[in-house]
Amino acid sequence: MTEKYYPEERLQEISDNIKRVRETVAQAAIRAGRDPAEVRLMAVTKTVAAAEINHAISCGIDLIGENKVQEFLSKKPQLQLSGVETHMIGHLQTNKVKDILGQVDVIQSVDSLRLAQALSKRAQAQNIPCKVLLEVNIAGEESKFGFCPQDVRAAAQEIANLPGMQVRGLMTVAPMLAKKSEVCTFFINMQRLFIDIRAEKMDNITMDILSMGMSDDFSEAIAAGSTLVRLGSAIFGIRQYR
Ligand SMILES: *Cc1c(COP(=O)(O)O)cnc(C)c1O
Repeated sequence: MTEKYYPEERLQEISDNIKRVRETVAQAAIRAGRDPAEVRLMAVTKTVAAAEINHAISCGIDLIGENKVQEFLSKKPQLQLSGVETHMIGHLQTNKVKDILGQVDVIQSVDSLRLAQALSKRAQAQNIPCKVLLEVNIAGEESKFGFCPQDVRAAAQEIANLPGMQVRGLMTVAPMLAKKSEVCTFFINMQRLFIDIRAEKMDNITMDILSMGMSDDFSEAIAAGSTLVRLGSAIFGIRQYR
């Protein structure tokens, strides 16, 4: 059945891409003097069909990221998720909180106190702990969601104090059209924030995930200490928005 819609070549392309990005990720880690095992590889699956995602999982992908609640929930029953972690990485509206809590392992895109409060309320009501990353608008872009760098520390403390919430780290998306050298600076600024907050050892904050780096900039992110790279097009090819 799957073969009908996903010819062997398409699945082979995904397998080849995964093999290649794994090698590139490992090389970037080694170049940065890091252990490749410190960098987790996430397959970003927005717009990708369930059969293709399942193929990636069969190739050893054990972490997937989705942007939209509805898209994820509609694909989820078809996914073979045993042993696979799922993260929400897209902007989350507070009215979707009730649908997503308990459906993913980590919400990486906590970008406001208001959203964190809504998650906490729901986490308490359902008695489900809510693991989150704080999304940082590292370049201060007008159009982007996320905490300003100077607000992250206080926000982390405040969110960690909300019942049911577990702060696990930080996430960022680098500006799309920035030069490589600028992107490197933004990633290094993220690394500094991450290390500073971790060093404070605040209650209920475990700073173990620094989620940064996408298909076009993951080597730079790994050089700046990323522990989780989020790759979509490098694994699945150019996205076809339907
Ligand atoms: C789409 C997306 C990615 C992956 O983007 P690629 O450039 O295709 O690797 C990573 N992170 C977030 C938040 C995304 O929305």
